[in-house]
Amino acid sequence: MQSDGERPLMMDVSATLLSDEERRHLERCIELAEEALSAHDEPFGSVLVSGDGVRLAEGRNRVVATGDRTQHPEIELARWAAAHLPEQERAAATVFTTGEHCPMCAAAHGWVGLGRIVYAHSSQQLAAWLGELGAPLPPVRPLSVVEIAPGVRVEGPVPDLALRMRELHRRFHLLPPASGG
Ligand SMILES: [Zn+2]
Repeated sequence: MQSDGERPLMMDVSATLLSDEERRHLERCIELAEEALSAHDEPFGSVLVSGDGVRLAEGRNRVVATGDRTQHPEIELARWAAAHLPEQERAAATVFTTGEHCPMCAAAHGWVGLGRIVYAHSSQQLAAWLGELGAPLPPVRPLSVVEIAPGVRVEGPVPDLALRMRELHRRFHLLPPASGG
């Protein structure tokens, strides 16, 4: 690997093992996060992909828009899967997501029996970035998915995509608050 002077991110694992198709799903997640940011919401986006590679559903954070801090895309996708997919299809599906599931969403993912998770940046990375930005820490501890739902296969972070996400989070926390409604 070339060194370009960039400080390596922690936990540089598994990223190069992603297929082009898997990277495209993560790229779509980042687009959704950018869409959220453009709407003055927190930059998180996720897509649910079936076992045979079909994108079934997608979502982004709407916590600012709704005033409901549980409006995360990962729990939305878990609920969508519970309502629309039989058990075997849920187990074969993958949730691609910009940020590793928070404990609430990891629990929902585990309860509905969804399969693999692939994320661009970890919860630990996000906590570190928020610290650097002087942003308030989340009211829920940044536990990893495997601590909440130990049976779920998890892959990430993806270093270059994590860097892009760090920039989106920096912009979110440096932006002036949205005016009016
Ligand atoms: Zn969440």
